[in-house]
Amino acid sequence: MSNANLRMCESPECSKWFTPKNDGGKCCCIKCKNRKNYLFASLEYFWEFVCTSQRKKNYKVLEYLLSINRIKVTRELLELMGFDFCVCFAPLLSQEGDHYYRFGNSLLKQISEDEFEIKYYDYEKIY
Ligand SMILES: [Zn+2]
Repeated sequence: MSNANLRMCESPECSKWFTPKNDGGKCCCIKCKNRKNYLFASLEYFWEFVCTSQRKKNYKVLEYLLSINRIKVTRELLELMGFDFCVCFAPLLSQEGDHYYRFGNSLLKQISEDEFEIKYYDYEKIY
C-alpha cells in the first residue's frame, strides 16, 4: 500500500495524517470536519455569532421576567439583567399597529422611551 494519498487533516487542532475516502476529503473524521467548519464560521461571521449568543441571553431574560409575572419593565432593569438592545431584529407590526421585538417565544413592546411590556408570542395571531 502506497502513502501517496496521505493528507494532513485540515482541522487546526488535529493535523493528523490520514488517507481520504474521496478526493475532497480534507479532515480525518467528521468531528474534525465539524470543528474546522465551526472555527472558520466563528471568525468569518463573528458578528452573527455574537448576535446569536446575545439573542439567547435576551430571550432568557424575557422568559425569566414572564415566569415571575413581571410584565412591565424599564430599560434600566432589562440592561441590568444583561439584555442587549443592539441585537433586536426589525420589529413585527401587529394588526393594532404596535411594534413587537421577538426573542424566542417572547415579545417585547416599547411603550415609551424607557418602558417596555413583555408577553408570550401567540402562534395563533398574525403579526
Ligand atoms: Zn483530524
